[in-house]
Amino acid sequence: MESGRKISVIVPCFNEEESLTTFNQTLIRCLPETYSFEIIYVNDGSSDNTFRIITSLAKSNPAIKYISFSRNFGHQNALKAGYDFASGDCAISLDADLQHPPAVIPELIAKWEEGFEIVNTMRNDHASISFSKKISSRIFYQIMRKLSDVNIENGMADFRLIDKKVLKQLKLFNENYLFFRGIIPWMGFRQTIVPFTANERFAGTTKYTFQKMLKFATTGVTAFSVKPLKISIYLGSVIAMVSFIYGLYAAYIHIFTDRAITGWTSVIFSVLFIGGINLLMLGIIGEYLGKLFIENKRRPNYLISDTNLIEQD
Ligand code: UDP
Ligand code: MG
Repeated sequence: MESGRKISVIVPCFNEEESLTTFNQTLIRCLPETYSFEIIYVNDGSSDNTFRIITSLAKSNPAIKYISFSRNFGHQNALKAGYDFASGDCAISLDADLQHPPAVIPELIAKWEEGFEIVNTMRNDHASISFSKKISSRIFYQIMRKLSDVNIENGMADFRLIDKKVLKQLKLFNENYLFFRGIIPWMGFRQTIVPFTANERFAGTTKYTFQKMLKFATTGVTAFSVKPLKISIYLGSVIAMVSFIYGLYAAYIHIFTDRAITGWTSVIFSVLFIGGINLLMLGIIGEYLGKLFIENKRRPNYLISDTNLIEQD
């Protein structure tokens, strides 16, 4: 019997033609019959057959909705589009490659029924996750915790359930540099974590290139903390202190000995060192300035070229 409650499932897809059909079957099999569902596929500017597959799925099942972007806007923006359009009593987001097992969905729903407003998931480190991914994700979360004021657990995934109350608030977040893994724990509400074991990618290769991952990591830090800007204060004062002591030493050499010309190596060393630190700090300031510049334009997070969710002209 249906409970009358509706659940939105959000699936960002970027060149997932090989996984989609199997993913869709598996997902539908795992959805409990006691709820009504809408499945929102967000096509993030795929260059393969992803969009065609989604539209044909939508034709055969009225619960399947789609939003197709005009180009690739990135995973986080695809999630944002899903959250913006979700009309359910709660929304569940998961990846299209079956790494986030749909079989865990009933468990997330059970936690929601218990009264939790945000149900996060945490990936157990498992053999199917590559060694480099494990290490890079460990380092990333470690740096994130050190540098920002948000406590993000290791292996937190963009596989989560949020209540419509949270969804309503989330729609108000219009920042261009989105980092949901930071925003969600920051939001408060009643949260819990469900562990899951990630599967191997069903088909295709990771859509997170090293470059995308690096971009994601800098956003994670700079969107959540201004601590890196303070590094210059600490480094600056340490260097000033060392220079002062070294200056005293130089003065001593000059006044009390006749070896004053021998300082060439140390001059070169300190010039290069200070130069390097200067560039580093300018880089950090530049990173924030650049983000301010982009945010200030208030451009939309994504542009939709096709959807069956709203009337189109
Ligand atoms: N994805 C996306 N836009 C992108 C990159 C990825 O919508 O620019 C989607 C992708 O189709 C998948 C999810 O985000 O459903 C996670 O990507 P992927 O599995 O490649 O990342 P990984 O699991 O390797 O971290
Ligand atoms: Mg994946």
